[in-house]
Amino acid sequence: MLNIYNTAARQKQPFQPLKENQVGLYVCGMTVYDFCHVGHARVSVVFDMVVRYLRYLDYSVHYVRNITDVDDKIINRAKENDETWQALTERFITAMHEDEAKLGVMRPDEEPRATDYMAEMIDMIEGLMEKGAAYQGETGDIYFAVKACPHYGAFMQQDVEQLRVGARVDLVEAKLDPLDFVLWKLAKPGEPSWESPWGEGRPGWHIECSAMSLHCLGKQFDLHGGGIDLCFPHHQNEIAQSDTYNDTQTVNGWMHVGHVQVNQEKMSKSLGNFFTLREVLKQYPAEVIRYFMLASHYRSPVNYAEDHLESAKQALTRFYLALRDVEAKAPDELLDGDFDRRFHEAMGDDFNTPEVMAVLFDLTRKINTLHQEGEAAKASQHAGLLKHLAGILGFLQDDPSTFLRADIDDQDEAQAIEALVKVRDEARENKDWSQADAIRDTLLAKGIVLEDNDQGTRWRKGDSGCDPQC
Ligand SMILES: [Zn+2]
Repeated sequence: MLNIYNTAARQKQPFQPLKENQVGLYVCGMTVYDFCHVGHARVSVVFDMVVRYLRYLDYSVHYVRNITDVDDKIINRAKENDETWQALTERFITAMHEDEAKLGVMRPDEEPRATDYMAEMIDMIEGLMEKGAAYQGETGDIYFAVKACPHYGAFMQQDVEQLRVGARVDLVEAKLDPLDFVLWKLAKPGEPSWESPWGEGRPGWHIECSAMSLHCLGKQFDLHGGGIDLCFPHHQNEIAQSDTYNDTQTVNGWMHVGHVQVNQEKMSKSLGNFFTLREVLKQYPAEVIRYFMLASHYRSPVNYAEDHLESAKQALTRFYLALRDVEAKAPDELLDGDFDRRFHEAMGDDFNTPEVMAVLFDLTRKINTLHQEGEAAKASQHAGLLKHLAGILGFLQDDPSTFLRADIDDQDEAQAIEALVKVRDEARENKDWSQADAIRDTLLAKGIVLEDNDQGTRWRKGDSGCDPQC
């Protein structure tokens, strides 16, 4: 049983797709004028996790995430850089794909770009005008008439009159109602523009998503997602346009991902308190960032702080230490401890990944205990289960040694460590304990931990501050 929190209903609801075993999912994607920051990456990782789990449950998922490749920010940035908007957006789309691939984010099935859907947007605007839900203002721009949508405001339980008072502050004279919003704006000189029945111009932001979701997923689809900050006005306005045009409730369930915060403030480009994914990927292995994003519930805000990433690294170190010591084999029978059931119960409860991580830690403890007790076969099967369950969320698939030595990307340094470990092994064979200890201390000072066992000595990077047996 899968329950998903629907923002529109303000509660968790049993997930029932419109068509049996098929899921249509639309997520509002990036406006590509800069590198992705950690807040964008969280939305990508969360929906990647959702899609992976739905596919694991055997749903055939059609995942669409748009790319906004024309808007004021893009036009201004291209001007500042003295490059074309096409060159700018192409560059940042490539960068987004590169960064996401490192995080293990699978590409959506479709990534429609706004500029490829001008005809569909114009059709939709014309349809809305025919229905009396859109009009041309005095300045020539086309607006959506909010009065044509009786349930406007219901999505976020907002009082329309109050919204109207708020919108009066920056009222554009050409609008009939302060809440009306632009569907098509006429081009200013030098701006990119497209032909339309109302003259050269470009679309408003909201109409993009209504037109592209209709084209890619049809008049009704199962899930629509995005960051929590998109609820108003973007998603409210999408609902108004789509439901009016399609004559139906277009979206069945709305999923929103909480903010990434820095010092309790939302991370955003406009506040200037953002970290690009690129910067963070230079400091931490990609899997640590992915784990950090999945370790908290997707709807809660998360604070981005170095010690949280360090904790994520320690958590992964614990998992990988358990997997390093035991050969992971797929279990051939249901294992004690109910790990499978608890995992799926947590995932079925609105993708409760913090609870999932607690289950995986219990499983890791079990592997360590079995290993210590010499129950090699059972330990192997539990390790296989850990790898399998974590794999559903897209992590813990690396070779343990690769992860545990992750910061040693310099081949020469790794070889130097290997050489010292060898000298120390010889010293130990010759019972030259003082030399063996001296080498251990030298490596420890460099953050290299040595572990001696029957087969010899192994090394790994950094002490996680965590007992391998915990
Ligand atoms: Zn959107």
